[in-house]
Amino acid sequence: MRLFEKCPICGGNVAEKEVEKVLKGGTNTAIIRVTAEVCLHCGERLYKPDTISRFDGIRKKLSQEDVNEFELVGKTFHVA
Ligand SMILES: [Zn+2]
Repeated sequence: MRLFEKCPICGGNVAEKEVEKVLKGGTNTAIIRVTAEVCLHCGERLYKPDTISRFDGIRKKLSQEDVNEFELVGKTFHVA
């Protein structure tokens, strides 16, 4: 079942793609690969509700330093 037939922002066609999403919680950052509907016109990403709730769970764990289940890959730097 397609959740989005058209982009709600611009009305463009959307296609299911695998995308990288950057999630931040507290001072921690995680990158997750998920499938999303991506607008072919404006690039808007449309996530399924269960994907969004997954993001929320990861953000919460990041802010609580509950990161044991995540794989550490390099460091994140802030460039002023
Ligand atoms: Zn669009």
